[in-house]
Amino acid sequence: MRHKHMAQRADRSRQALRYGWMALCLLWAAAPLYLPAYYLTIANHIGMVALVALGLVLMTGVAGLTSFGQAAFVGLGAYVSAVLTTTYGLSPWLGLLAVVVVTVSIAFALGAITLRLSGHYLPLGTIAWGLSLYFLFGNLEILGGHTGLSSIPPIEAFGYGLKSAASIYYLIWVVLFLAIVLSDNLLHSREGRAIRALKGGVIVAESMGVNTARSKMIVFLLAALYAGISGWIYAHYQRFVNPSPFSLHIGIEYLFMAVLGGATQVWGALLGAGLVTLLKEWLQDLLPRLLGSSGNFETIIFGLFLVLLLQHAPKGLWPHVERLFRRSSFKSQKIDPIQASINDTNHTDLSAAVLPKRLRQSGTSADYLLEARGLEKRFGGLIANQDISLGLRPSEILALIGPNGAGKSTLFDLLTGVQKLDAGTIYFSGEAIHGRRARDIARLGLSRSFQHVRLLPEMSVLENIALGAHLRGRHGPLRAALHLEREEERALINEARNQAIRVGLSDVMHVPAGSLALGQQRTLEIARALAGDPLALLLDEPAAGLRFGEKQKLADLLRALRADGLAILLVEHDMAFVMNLADRVVVMEHGVVIAQGEPARIQKDPRVIEAYLGVDLS
Ligand code: ADP
Ligand code: MG
Repeated sequence: MRHKHMAQRADRSRQALRYGWMALCLLWAAAPLYLPAYYLTIANHIGMVALVALGLVLMTGVAGLTSFGQAAFVGLGAYVSAVLTTTYGLSPWLGLLAVVVVTVSIAFALGAITLRLSGHYLPLGTIAWGLSLYFLFGNLEILGGHTGLSSIPPIEAFGYGLKSAASIYYLIWVVLFLAIVLSDNLLHSREGRAIRALKGGVIVAESMGVNTARSKMIVFLLAALYAGISGWIYAHYQRFVNPSPFSLHIGIEYLFMAVLGGATQVWGALLGAGLVTLLKEWLQDLLPRLLGSSGNFETIIFGLFLVLLLQHAPKGLWPHVERLFRRSSFKSQKIDPIQASINDTNHTDLSAAVLPKRLRQSGTSADYLLEARGLEKRFGGLIANQDISLGLRPSEILALIGPNGAGKSTLFDLLTGVQKLDAGTIYFSGEAIHGRRARDIARLGLSRSFQHVRLLPEMSVLENIALGAHLRGRHGPLRAALHLEREEERALINEARNQAIRVGLSDVMHVPAGSLALGQQRTLEIARALAGDPLALLLDEPAAGLRFGEKQKLADLLRALRADGLAILLVEHDMAFVMNLADRVVVMEHGVVIAQGEPARIQKDPRVIEAYLGVDLS
């Protein structure tokens, strides 16, 4: 009954929302009819800068790559088309083609150098090329130096020159809306999850099989492309270009817009661009009248505004705007349609395709699936792992125990390629994996969880799990932006859903991962690892923070996985838990293995008892 009532209410508010949208669309389409010329010009300006800000939302807000240099890409787009259409008489549409090719190529070259930089060096790098491109615009003879280029032809559409503010209005806003929709599509796809994962750090993304260098490059190129296209429109709308709108100062302003609007939301770009532009106009008008002299006072006020705002709304304004409109039923609207379609029942989406699974041998085998020999890892003078050898068989739970600082997590990092080993060999599934990258090892079917949980707290539980299935999809960013990969996406989400159910997280699938209790976050890490269809699972203290009942459930799950043929290497401190569950135990202390064997034998080993002095092993 209650469900039915809620569904009706959701239906009604969905309908209200649709009418709201339709009214907005009408208002938008009719704007040139009722907006005075001055405001139409401002609307056009907002549309053009919002396109640049959108690129920054993706790059800085979503992927965490700060760029101060976006204005330079706007300039690149403007100048490339300006030169080709004035000096060489090309049509602006061919100019656009050249803009796309040139912007993407130059961005690729700049990205290849700068995106490798980490921490503060990346923004500094963007400042560096932002400045150089700006000075290039001012100093090249062919670009008209500081005077710039004039008599740029207007863009022609349907045999009609888009000269007036009213005619270019439609071009600008259609391009902007398209870009927003395509970007939103991209973010809600497998590639988008990889891009969003960048913010959580390279380690977890690479461990899930994401090629982080590629994902960074994708957002960087997209942001540059949006900026270039904005510049192209600008040049043919103003019919004149000079270097000043492409300076570092303006680059910073674009970043303001993205941050102000709401760094992670595509619509935030529009909000930020609108607010900054209107506020600037208003202040430029107001301040000289108040202060009785002219000058760039607005910049000062503006800086103060921004500092205050960042203090009170660090995630920008969009989340606040959204909250104003949001009702509980509206919330489900924000969820990916694929998730929503399978939202109502607790069963799997039967119409979704099933992802192919790895071939695995059934039953136990004497051969090791994962075998390490003589592993060594030093951190400066500290030997964290020394001459470590162990083997893990299919359908086996091998427990790794030892006091804190024994080197267990380091060993996990060596086995999964997160850390480089100093010596030793590792074979997995018959292949040498020592020296390989984390994502290549993940591809072979070795999945892991982290002792210090590494989740994307703002992404839903389901999306976090789906990230683990990254390597099981293949469609690229273009198909994702056009939503041509929906079949595959359904299969991926369905897989994530199955894993959520399997580990007992089905009630919280749609909540942000960051809102889970720590024990559940660890369980989520297991589900994420399972989504990769692994042959072996490396779990670093999965039971820490779990209550007794939850631990029992975890033990049941691990036994079921073992029965499915999975090999499990498990770090755990709870001895009762370990001794009940494990087939064999490896004990480490001070970076070396001090004992290994069956639980019963380990419990009696004098060296182990000494290492655990005071800890009851039974
Ligand atoms: P365990 O997981 O068994 O508690 P760890 O593998 O985390 O132990 O750590 C083993 C030793 O290596 C500790 O002394 C720790 O301080 C050191 N260590 C781990 N990671 C690093 C690192 N990245 N840099 C320097 N020392 C490290
Ligand atoms: Mg550890």
